[in-house]
Amino acid sequence: MRCPYCGGSETQVKDSRPSEDGAAIRRRRVCPDCAGRFTTFERVQLREVVVLKRSGKRVPFDRDKLQRSIDVALRKRSVEPERIERLVSGITRQLESAGEPEVTSEAIGELVMAGLKGLDDVAYVRFASVYKNFREAKDFEDLLGTLGDGTPLPGSETALEVEPEPEAPGRRRSGRT
Ligand SMILES: [Zn+2]
Repeated sequence: MRCPYCGGSETQVKDSRPSEDGAAIRRRRVCPDCAGRFTTFERVQLREVVVLKRSGKRVPFDRDKLQRSIDVALRKRSVEPERIERLVSGITRQLESAGEPEVTSEAIGELVMAGLKGLDDVAYVRFASVYKNFREAKDFEDLLGTLGDGTPLPGSETALEVEPEPEAPGRRRSGRT
């Protein structure tokens, strides 16, 4: 693994241990040339997943991006990091093993919503309010009405979008976070 700081090719592994509930190996590495330290993760990749965005653009599935979206929804919520990692890994594996040549951003949004619903109601509503882009207050009430009782989400065929960069100024900040 090439050093990200100086480009040296002889980096050494200092520490190696399981991560993400055993689904990944985390390695601490050090570069003998510049003493730079960095971390790598080794994960199984069942296959390449291509995401079809609503705009029609195709991009490679990005696990880190998925993680960031979920982290934003869960900000300041007391959910164990291990459970979040399991959700991210679970969604990633579902996508990789789906057998479809490509997956829509809407489908990923559905998976995230389903996962968050079981994890944390507040995060679920946050995520849904950003990605579902409510047109009316009633949509929001309908959504709240589905919490906890397992009822399918109303209008779940509505286009969802997973793309908005969490770092970008939010399209719909609730202001209550
Ligand atoms: Zn280096």
